[in-house]
Amino acid sequence: MPGEDVAAALAAAADLAREGLGSVLTQLGEQVTSREEAAGVRDHYLRVLEEIRQRQLPTEISVKLTHLGLDLNPKACLQDLLALAARAAAVGSFLWIDMEESRYVDPTLELFQAVRAAHAGVGVCLQAYLRRTPADLEALLPLAPAIRLVKGAYNEPPDVALPKKRDVDGAYAVLAGRLLQRAAQGEARAVFGTHDLGLLARLRQRALATCCMAFAPPSSARSTAKEFPSVSWSAMGRTGSRGTCGGSPNDRRMCGLW
Ligand SMILES: Cc1cc2nc3c(=O)[nH]c(=O)nc-3n(C[C@H](O)[C@H](O)[C@H](O)COP(=O)(O)OP(=O)(O)OC[C@H]3O[C@@H](n4cnc5c(N)ncnc54)[C@H](O)[C@@H]3O)c2cc1C
Repeated sequence: MPGEDVAAALAAAADLAREGLGSVLTQLGEQVTSREEAAGVRDHYLRVLEEIRQRQLPTEISVKLTHLGLDLNPKACLQDLLALAARAAAVGSFLWIDMEESRYVDPTLELFQAVRAAHAGVGVCLQAYLRRTPADLEALLPLAPAIRLVKGAYNEPPDVALPKKRDVDGAYAVLAGRLLQRAAQGEARAVFGTHDLGLLARLRQRALATCCMAFAPPSSARSTAKEFPSVSWSAMGRTGSRGTCGGSPNDRRMCGLW
């Protein structure tokens, strides 16, 4: 998404909305060193959610937990997440939690589950390159979760993450299939965060062939202000305030994206 600041990101989100596309905004940054900084990040996102409300944008937010001070004070980080989830729900948006280095997976999933117990409108990212991810996905599925599946962006040792790209792509396909299966039953929201257009095309075909037209939001999400679809496709720019645009207008028509 073009632009280095929130105003530009919101303008781009509005342009995308006019084309029938949803978006996800995130402020680049991680591992803050003080609670004041973390509170500033929380307040930044609260302001972004207010802009989303005022402009009536089909836009969600995605946060990194170390940007919200996970390393400094996990309890305060949870409180900030709860505040963001409550505000996102109130304005008809949605809160995503990024996944960072492998040492953060346990606390991230722990906090995700704590927030998910209070708010349906929260989802988490899982990384296909991690050897543990199939087990993590299975453990989360009973929650009828919203999962954004990505390949994984960090430099991890081979005992933790699959070292070969071919194997990561294979793992992604298997995990995506499992997620689509659950989404087809209305038991998950499946989001695919990748620039791999060939992979997205194959997943889209699979979703359309098996389930997409019949998708309903997970039952646990039906009480949220904005009901969400079960499958969406995302590609993300990495400049300034990062944005995610999903699929084409055609995808939206056919799959009811965003
Ligand atoms: C919406 C979204 C959310 C993400 N969230 C997280 C997260 O929370 N945690 C995490 O670890 N990682 C996250 N990632 C990054 C992800 O893990 C991958 O590192 C990244 O997407 C590159 O892999 P790929 O799936 O695009 O496929 P690849 O197989 O690496 O690339 C596929 C094709 O896309 C091209 N490409 C790759 N990167 C880009 C780019 N930035 N811009 C344009 N073209 C590109 C490649 O050249 C190649 O042609 C996210 C990515 C996206 C798109």
